[in-house]
Amino acid sequence: MSKIEMVDLKGQYLRIKEEVDRGIQEVIDGTTFINGPQTKRFAVEFADYLHVKHVVPCGNGTDALQIALMALDLEPGDEIIVPAFTYVATAEVIKLLGLHVVMAEVDPDTFMLTAEEIEKLVTPRTKVVIPVHLYGQSAPMESIMALSEKHGFYVVEDAAQSIGAVYTFADGRTAHVGTIGHLGCTSFFPSKNLGCYGDGGAVMSNDEQLGERAWRIANHGQAKKYHHSLVGCNSRLDSIQAAVLLAKLPYLDSYCKARAAVAQAYDTAFEDLEWLEVPKRCGNSTHVFHQYTIKVVAEEDRDLLKEHLQSLGIPSMVYYPIPLHQQEAFKDVRYPLGSFPISEQLCKCVLSLPIHTEMKTEVLEVIIAGVKSFKL
Ligand SMILES: *Cc1c(COP(=O)(O)O)cnc(C)c1O
Repeated sequence: MSKIEMVDLKGQYLRIKEEVDRGIQEVIDGTTFINGPQTKRFAVEFADYLHVKHVVPCGNGTDALQIALMALDLEPGDEIIVPAFTYVATAEVIKLLGLHVVMAEVDPDTFMLTAEEIEKLVTPRTKVVIPVHLYGQSAPMESIMALSEKHGFYVVEDAAQSIGAVYTFADGRTAHVGTIGHLGCTSFFPSKNLGCYGDGGAVMSNDEQLGERAWRIANHGQAKKYHHSLVGCNSRLDSIQAAVLLAKLPYLDSYCKARAAVAQAYDTAFEDLEWLEVPKRCGNSTHVFHQYTIKVVAEEDRDLLKEHLQSLGIPSMVYYPIPLHQQEAFKDVRYPLGSFPISEQLCKCVLSLPIHTEMKTEVLEVIIAGVKSFKL
């Protein structure tokens, strides 16, 4: 059997090789490498897929977050609430823009922000909340949007890990993650659920004005060439990446289903193991399983399990080993160790197992047997 990987991008490519190769060749033949027809077409098709008015393709997911924040009229010192348990990009852009990072505790079962935790932190300077849809499902958007109306802050969704997931509101209305807040952001990093073959990202919005501003900001603040009405940046999805995404977008839902099938098999196999917890599903969201993240009940076992799997040739990853407030770059006297006990605990007990669109039954069986053999 070949080496077991966290993700199998090669196997995925081989199944759509013809479409991808043709798309890339067309870009080279056309030589419009930046803002070519592929990028424009992808923006339209992705907006159709998401049922959202504006898609602004950009350089990567981190840029998407920065562009989204730049599109809002913020002032130095304005406060932005983010989860203490997240990927660093979410907070990085806040600091880069001279804004204030306010960290919030997450829910121990969903790993995400809750409206209750957010509300404890709201001040008159709270301008934005960034819910991170971690691992593949939606944060509780209905209650977060209700809070946003009550307190008048913006919501910028970080949907880098959950594109394709659908959220259902109490009245039965559904919406894709990334299209519910005032602005949404996603990443097309190769290993994401919809990944290109380099860097890529997008900002989404149903708000006419914010969508237009985001588009200008990503393009040097210009609506018309060489007329700069805003200070922007240079952040573009190049045509080759757009061609790859155009080839892959029609498969996104089937990719999510393939991941969910792997998750289901893990769930069933681990049902009786009392020393681990399988990922809990949020009631109002589908789960697209960017990660299948278990919790090891006894935290001292987590690294031992990782080593055990490693010895069997099974990779696993810790997303994330250090909470935001304990990162060197984000240390703050307001947040000493112990400030976010749940986030701190999660960093010690989470472990993500291989999950991707090309998982073969025999590989899945090896991984399952490997996990089960940790405590026989
Ligand atoms: C991947 C990721 C990002 C950043 O995306 P890049 O394209 O790598 O810049 C931001 N937030 C979260 C939660 C992510 O997983």
